[in-house]
Amino acid sequence: MLVLAEATRADANVPRMPDEPPVTLEMVAWPDRDYYEGGFGPEPDLYEQGTCRTCGVDVTSTAKRAFCPTCGEVCELT
Ligand SMILES: [Zn+2]
Repeated sequence: MLVLAEATRADANVPRMPDEPPVTLEMVAWPDRDYYEGGFGPEPDLYEQGTCRTCGVDVTSTAKRAFCPTCGEVCELT
């Protein structure tokens, strides 16, 4: 499966917390198109962001209600 994601590498010169990963990933979540009657959400020009409650990955989408690309759960984004 292909997943669109943005990876951010932490600055090696900036100290980070022990549990902070060196690279953070934010994945693009596919909007729940059945919920939006086939569309990409009421305001697809705006990006909605959040964290999946099930697997904890950071996700972004065109709609507030979208499927997590990692575990498939519905995410409620803001
Ligand atoms: Zn998930």
